[in-house]
Amino acid sequence: MLRFVYDYANFVLTAEVLAKKEYSSLAYLEMKRIKSIFEKTQEELQTLNQKITDDQKQLDYFKREIKQMQERLEKDRVALYDGTVTNKRILDAKEQEISALQDRLKKHQASERSLLAQIEAEKERNKNMQQTMRIDYEKFYLAKEKFEEIKREFATQIEEIKQKMEQLRPKIDAATFAWYEKEKDKFMGQPVAILNAKGVCSGCHTHVTANFLNKVKEQDEIIRCERCSRTFVYDEQ
Ligand SMILES: [Zn+2]
Repeated sequence: MLRFVYDYANFVLTAEVLAKKEYSSLAYLEMKRIKSIFEKTQEELQTLNQKITDDQKQLDYFKREIKQMQERLEKDRVALYDGTVTNKRILDAKEQEISALQDRLKKHQASERSLLAQIEAEKERNKNMQQTMRIDYEKFYLAKEKFEEIKREFATQIEEIKQKMEQLRPKIDAATFAWYEKEKDKFMGQPVAILNAKGVCSGCHTHVTANFLNKVKEQDEIIRCERCSRTFVYDEQ
């Protein structure tokens, strides 16, 4: 009976390992890696797009300002040359005003040019990032397909193990199964140990004495391994 418990517990452990294994597969780790890069790029892209919007607003402001200045300059020049202003002092003042306005206009135009270049570079970066994201998405999709394949493979293996467990389960009586359920957590899932003909414990690989081995062979009482405390069942193996 304990021999069945031993096999049953091993199936449970194998199924658990398989269920976890798909999440340590290369395909899964690759998926996680790409996803994290993808999300980071997405965040950066959002920040960049906000920057482009802000710079565009700033650019529009300069454009409006430049247009107003040019209109004002045009008006001032007309006033200067159409002969309506004859007073020398007013003319001088007008000239100085035009000169100052032209300086400010030049500065604004320089700012406009540098902003335009900046926005262009930002848009180029945006394009590159989107391209990177497209490539990453392709890679992610491939890794995901691989992962799904691995998952299906493991699911088939787990299904096979579960079928074996179902076949084994009726061979274990209720009391013994209850004992297994109660004990298993104390022994990392396997409360039974096989003691082979050489006297080696399958749980902790310790050698027992010949006397001890004989005692277990007779098997009319519950005997535990002195080292790992698992309950022994004898099997020549
Ligand atoms: Zn042991």
